[in-house]
Amino acid sequence: MKLEVESIMENIMKKLNIRLTSQRKIILSTFIENMDKHLTVNELYEMIKDKNKLIGMATIYRTIEILLKNDIIVKHDFGDSVPKYELGIERKKNHHHLICKRCGKVIEVSELLKDDFQKKILATEGFQCTGYTLKIFGYCDRCRIALLSEKNYIQDIINKII
Ligand SMILES: [Zn+2]
Ligand SMILES: [Zn+2]
Repeated sequence: MKLEVESIMENIMKKLNIRLTSQRKIILSTFIENMDKHLTVNELYEMIKDKNKLIGMATIYRTIEILLKNDIIVKHDFGDSVPKYELGIERKKNHHHLICKRCGKVIEVSELLKDDFQKKILATEGFQCTGYTLKIFGYCDRCRIALLSEKNYIQDIINKII
């Protein structure tokens, strides 16, 4: 994992035309280490605090802006008004999010769309797609079952009253 983080970091640094200070490097490596997560700024801050106490919120926000502008990370709005960030580099690209409206769980899925849809968009609209993400709202497996039993429970009460 450590080696992987270093090599991904190296690639990103090459892509970036800006100098990354050691504090910014820590922020970037935290994103890489948590590639499978969607982080809020507060969650990021909590993780970074353990690595370097000197990194403040202002530095985190500024670094996020730089990483966003350079397509290194992406910003998500999963409908709960707290923006979440995740790595947006090649190997994490083009996945979709199933968002549970009840518990807020976010499940990542890929291969929902056929590959040739990008070619079709280019052919019909002249639009070159560089990346995409779908947000699909609904209920996760647990919540779906919980909601079903809640409904049954309410139905039960109604049946007893009537
Ligand atoms: Zn849920
Ligand atoms: Zn994601």
